[in-house]
Amino acid sequence: MLIVMHHTATDEQVQAITDAVKAMGLTPQPIPGSERTAIGVLGNQGYVDDTSIRDMPGVREIIHVSKPYKLVSRDFHPESSVVEAGGVKFGDGHPPVVIAGPCSVESEAQMMAAAPLVKDAGARMLRGGAFKPRTGPHSFQGLGVEGLKYLRRAGDSVGLPVITEVMRIEQLEIVCKYADVLQIGARNMQNFDLLKEAGKTMHPVLLKRGMSATIEEFLSAAEYLLAEGNPRVILCERGIRTFERTTRNTLDLTVVPLIREMSHLPIIVDPSHATGRRNLVTPMAKAALVVGAHGIMVEVHPDPDRALCDGAQSLSGNDFTQLMNDLRKLQELFGGTL
Ligand code: PEP
Ligand code: MN
Repeated sequence: MLIVMHHTATDEQVQAITDAVKAMGLTPQPIPGSERTAIGVLGNQGYVDDTSIRDMPGVREIIHVSKPYKLVSRDFHPESSVVEAGGVKFGDGHPPVVIAGPCSVESEAQMMAAAPLVKDAGARMLRGGAFKPRTGPHSFQGLGVEGLKYLRRAGDSVGLPVITEVMRIEQLEIVCKYADVLQIGARNMQNFDLLKEAGKTMHPVLLKRGMSATIEEFLSAAEYLLAEGNPRVILCERGIRTFERTTRNTLDLTVVPLIREMSHLPIIVDPSHATGRRNLVTPMAKAALVVGAHGIMVEVHPDPDRALCDGAQSLSGNDFTQLMNDLRKLQELFGGTL
């Protein structure tokens, strides 16, 4: 349930509603807006009888929201959220953010080569996995904490904030120490304990869609982070598993405009994991911006053919520069910058 107050409602009236909601055994969550305050009601199992509240002074309207993801929904929070992460703003009214870098941190030299390459082409955040969720145990598993240090050093060397994946609760502390943004990967989208603990850190989180997650499951996973009080969540569509095997996944671009309708959170697209093929990355990155993504995340490697992970979908420096030029032209068409 969402209680929308009149724009003339006083602080005392808002407080009286908050008290009344608590008296019903429910949790009030005030949502201040530029026009008026709304009070979200959490904790109800089903329909809430609003008779004791609807005639209280200052109440304009009561909206019953039955979705399992209330805090992330636009019903609860009609204004689009702008999420600041590592000094970069994701959301409406801000240029799309390009995050780029290798799939995995492989060595200090590789990261020191990757960083200027993505920075000079115009990326605004550097990526690199130190803890890697690999399908098989014999594949490169990442450099762990050593990798975090290389990533940080490389980001600092060019003045870019960094993002990296956290796979387990025990890694949260060290990843928060080295990275500006926590990435929760597709395989962990429904690791509810990890989501809860990541929510408590208050560090910005990039939450990737699970490979077979419905939109409701995706938004419900984000709800875990917000329910812990962390509003700094960026969603990421990275392709879903379908019957089609020609591409690594199927990029579900429909979720971009759909999630923009359903949620106030920013959403970006990862065309690298979505397609698995280098030559498909640029066209799908362009498509992502056309449908309204607030950014993209792309894998870029100084020597893609020798990458220890995801080389087939990684762009070279030249490919990436070309991609950025294409995106810039697109942004000019929209009347904006990149
Ligand atoms: C990644 O970004 O390197 C990654 C493992 O992505 P996903 O969780 O989407 O598979
Ligand atoms: Mn990868």
